[in-house]
Amino acid sequence: MAKELIRLENCRKEFDGEVVLDSINLAIKDKEFLTLLGPSGCGKTTTLRIIGGFLRPDSGKVIFDGVTINDVPPHKRKINTVFQKYALFTHLNVFENIAFGLRIQRPRLTEQEITRRVHEALELVALKGYEKRSVSQLSGGQQQRVAIARAVVNRPQVLLLDEPLGALDLKLRKDMQRELKQIQQQVGITFIYVTHDQEEALTMSDTVVVMNKGEIQQIGTPLDIYNEPKNAFVADFIGESNIIDGVMVSDRVVRMYGRDFECLDKGFAPNEPVDVVVRPEDIDIVPVPQGQITGTVTDVTFKGMQYDIIVDFQGFKWLIQTTDHSPVGAKIGVKIDPDGFHIMKKSEYSGLYGDYSSYSAEYDELSAAPDDGGQEDE
Ligand code: ATP
Repeated sequence: MAKELIRLENCRKEFDGEVVLDSINLAIKDKEFLTLLGPSGCGKTTTLRIIGGFLRPDSGKVIFDGVTINDVPPHKRKINTVFQKYALFTHLNVFENIAFGLRIQRPRLTEQEITRRVHEALELVALKGYEKRSVSQLSGGQQQRVAIARAVVNRPQVLLLDEPLGALDLKLRKDMQRELKQIQQQVGITFIYVTHDQEEALTMSDTVVVMNKGEIQQIGTPLDIYNEPKNAFVADFIGESNIIDGVMVSDRVVRMYGRDFECLDKGFAPNEPVDVVVRPEDIDIVPVPQGQITGTVTDVTFKGMQYDIIVDFQGFKWLIQTTDHSPVGAKIGVKIDPDGFHIMKKSEYSGLYGDYSSYSAEYDELSAAPDDGGQEDE
C-alpha cells in the first residue's frame, strides 16, 4: 500500500464572503491517480490551486509528506501543473519549451543532461522527432503532449492537471485519456486531475473524489462510486439515474407509486421516506401484463449502442437505456430486479427535484464533449 503523500485538513476557502470550500478533508497517496469530479463551480480548481500553492486556504492545513506547507510558495513545492490552455512559449520550439524548466534549475544541469532528459520526455509523450518544430504548428493534442512533457521533465512528485483535455475533440480526448494513464504509470508520479466529465474520471482514476457546492460528497474507487453511490447527488452525477420518492415499508421492500417492490436494502426505519435510485440500464422493458408498472414512451433517441427512451409513469418521466426499440406513444411494462434498486437516505439534493425523476439534461450538457474547434491530431 502506497504511503500518504498529501493531506488536506479542514481546508476552507471563501471568496467575497461566499464559502467556496467547506472543510475539505482529503488524503492522497503517493503515485495515485486521483480525480476531483463535480459540476462547474463546485470548487475543484480551488482545491487544486490550494494544493499547488497558488491559493492559501483561509483555515485548515495542507500537508505534504508529513510537513505543513501552507506558507511554501508554488515553485518550492515538488508539484507541477498542466492547464487546459497549454501555456506554451510560442517563440520557442518543442525542444526549448520542454527544456525551459531544466535550464532554470540550480545547480545547473549540463547541456548533455538536458538533451537526454528532453529526449526521454519526448519519447514518453510519443513526440520523438518533433524537437525542432515550432509549437504553433502543432495540433491541439500535440501541444498538450508538449505541455505534459514539460511538466514531467523536471521530475515533480505530483502533477496537477486542470481539465487538460477539455479543449480536445471527443475522439482525441479518449486517446489522450489512455495515453495519460500510461504516462502516469510509466513515470510513477501522483496525478491530481480535475474534470467535470464523469466518464473521464471513471476511466482514468484510481480514486474519484466527487464534489458539490464546495463539499466532498464521496471518495472511492470508480467501481465503488458507480455501484455504491452514497447519496442521490453522486448517483445522478455518476451516470444517469432515475431518482424516485419512495417509502421503505420494511427490510428489502420499497414502495413507489403505491406498489411494493423487492430490493436488497435494509436497516431503514419502518415507513422511512427514501430516494429510490434506478439506473437507466437496469430497467427491462417487457409486455404490459408482465410489467411491475406500466408507462407510455414519450421520446426515443438512438445513441449508437442503445436507445435512450423517456417513459412517462403517472406523470413522472424516467430514462431507460435499452437495445430494444419502442416507438413514441407505445404502452410498455417495465421490470426491475431487486439489485436494480439503490435505496438512499433522503438528502438535501433530492429536495431540488421533489418527487420528480431527476434525469437531468443539465448533466448531459456537462458531460457532453465540448466539441468547440475540432482540433485534429495526425
Ligand atoms: P469549473 O469546472 O467551472 O472550473 P470548479 O469546480 O473548478 O468549476 P472553482 O473554479 O474552484 O470551481 O470555483 C468555485 C467557486 O469559487 C465558483 O463559484 C467561482 O466563481 C468562485 N471563485 C473561484 N475563484 C475565485 C476568485 N479568485 N474570486 C472570486 N470567486 C472565485
